Amino acid sequence: MFNFIHLNCPTCGAQLRVSEDSQRFDCEHCGNNYLLSQKISELEPAERENILADSTYTHKLKQWLKVGDYEICLHEIQTVQQDGLNIFAISVEYRNNSKETLSCRRNQWTLFDPEGYAYDNDENDSKPYECLPGQMLGNHRILTPGSKVRGWVTFKLPTGTTVERLQFLTGNFSAKTAEYLLK
Ligand SMILES: [Zn+2]
Repeated sequence: MFNFIHLNCPTCGAQLRVSEDSQRFDCEHCGNNYLLSQKISELEPAERENILADSTYTHKLKQWLKVGDYEICLHEIQTVQQDGLNIFAISVEYRNNSKETLSCRRNQWTLFDPEGYAYDNDENDSKPYECLPGQMLGNHRILTPGSKVRGWVTFKLPTGTTVERLQFLTGNFSAKTAEYLLK
């Protein structure tokens, strides 16, 4: 027999009824899916109050996701053709509601195709694509508690590449991820 407990969705705050025995749960309100590194029954009461998933899976843009100490928002995706290159550009924002200083780096973002090949982001520091409004994220931004930063991260893709998944990785020792499912 399963026992159920109540949790709040880490993204939208909806109250969910979740099997204690599970390491995964879904939110029927925002549609996001969550994976934990342990069973819900093994979490401390304080961790259950403010649940942080090890991986968050989403199909949606323009929502704030909690990923470890980070809060991130994928605002927009643009694809650009310039000088014979296919550029996949993402507009991302970070905010720091933690008590720690956080490091924001464009290499926290990786694109994957359906075969599992990974594409690293473009190393350009200056803004190479005129059609993108605003600034690039930069390679290393320090985010003090209470502050936020926004910028573009771009990927140069070979012609014909299909992208399936965009991953954000905190990069801490025990890394947490957000996975944007693009199809
Ligand atoms: Zn939700």
